[in-house]
Formats: sequence, C-alpha cells, structure tokens
Amino acid sequence: MQIWQPRNVSGACHNAIMYSPDLRRHAVALMESGISLRSISISTGISRATLHDWREHPVARVKPRASCPRCARQSALPEPQADCAYLLGLYLEDGCLSFASTRDKKVWKLRIICADAWPGLQQECARVMDAISPGHKIGTQQWPGCVEVISRSRHWPCLFPQHGPGRKHHRKIELEEWQLVIVRKYPGEFARGLFHSDGWRGVNRVRRRLAGGDRWYEYPRYQFSNESADILRLCGETLDRLGVAWRYSRRTVISVARREAVVRLDEFVGPKY
Ligand SMILES: [Zn+2]
Repeated sequence: MQIWQPRNVSGACHNAIMYSPDLRRHAVALMESGISLRSISISTGISRATLHDWREHPVARVKPRASCPRCARQSALPEPQADCAYLLGLYLEDGCLSFASTRDKKVWKLRIICADAWPGLQQECARVMDAISPGHKIGTQQWPGCVEVISRSRHWPCLFPQHGPGRKHHRKIELEEWQLVIVRKYPGEFARGLFHSDGWRGVNRVRRRLAGGDRWYEYPRYQFSNESADILRLCGETLDRLGVAWRYSRRTVISVARREAVVRLDEFVGPKY
C-alpha cells in the first residue's frame, strides 16, 4: 500500500496525509464488515478522524474501474450480443479506431461514419455504442454529407481486434473465434449492420420488349459493395446462414435480387431510414 505525504512548506497541517485509492477501498471494506474504527486505525495507521470522515461521506469513494469482458481474467462475450453483431457490421464497413488524443494514448475513439440522409441510422449507431460501452459520452462530428458518431473508451480495440494500420481492404480481415460465435448467433443483426452502412435497398427497373411495345417492371433488390474480399466473404456467409440467395453482380458487389430472397432479407434489414 502506498501512502504519500505532500510537502507542506507552510507548516499548516490539516489532514495533509493523502492515501492511495487502494488503501481507502481496503479501509472502507473493513468498516463495512463491522470492524471497529479503532482496530482499523491501529492496523492501517489511518487516523480515526479520517476513517470517520470516509464512513460519513461514502460518495467520495473511488469509483471501481469499468470492467471489460475481453480483458477480464475470465474473458466473456461482450453484451448485448445482438448489438455487438450490428455494431461489428457497421465497423467493418464504415468504422475506424484512433487515439482520443496524443497526450493520452490509452483512450481510443470508435468512429462510425453515418450519412446525413439516414438520421435514424445515426441514432441507432449511438444507441448500440452506449449499450455496449455504457457510461461514456457519445459525441458527433459533422462532415459534408455525413456525421461521425464517436465513443471513447480504453477498450474498443478489445472489441474490434481487426483494428490495424491502413485501409481494411488492403489487409486481411478475419473474425476471432468469439466474434464468430456472436455473428453466427445473430446473423440477421450482423447483416443489418453491413447493409445499413455500405448496403443499398432500392428499386430496379427492368424493360421487357413485348410484341405490343416495351413494358417496364420494377422490383426491390439489395446490393452490398465493398473493396475487401474478406468482408464480402463474411457478408456472403451470413446471407447463406439466413437462407438468402445472392450472387456477385460485380467483383466488389453482392446482389440479392430474387423476390423470395429480398422478402427474406427484409425480415432482418429493410430500407434505410
Ligand atoms: Zn478490454
């Protein structure tokens, strides 16, 4: 236990001794267990007046550090898992991690780009960030045509180990085993995150040449485009898991166009809003 005493050149001494947070937590725990102040004072060297003050002002207790399910001694899956699957989809498409400031390199900013055209998606992005990493203020940064939704935490890299230098399509993107558990459990949420960022649900117009003249038909379809072959593969595997027929319409574009496949994907994704 570390105890330090500030240099007090004025000589005016009023409870000048400062105690480490660990020692304070230890003493408070002893008091809560019913041990007398006198005994605690003798065993710790803390004055009874200070112990009395700590007992009377519990709000001044040092807050425990927020726990991270991935850093914990027994690591666990982050919660809520459905929101994690959705946020992973957004992150792989339009997210990045950077240091919150150069002075404190232990805090990271998770930044997700959301188009101005879809305010509902911005709110949904902020909601899931808050659900997964509660207690951290969510901020926004406006850019031409889009908004960055930002959350700060020391532990975002634990939840997005795909973080690395360079663009995602220039490096290998693989999910860790615990992430695969989540996206296999919540494929609909993962697909929703992917399609809500760089996906598109729109109406295709097709012309048919008939004897009586041309006729135009309209039908809804989904497209998902990405430069990363790894991310396209993850999208394709997830659509397979959902039982949604798809094909590559171009090297970098996945298309879902069959009527029953669009109806099925509508159950999980739907139009942007
Ligand atoms: Zn962590």
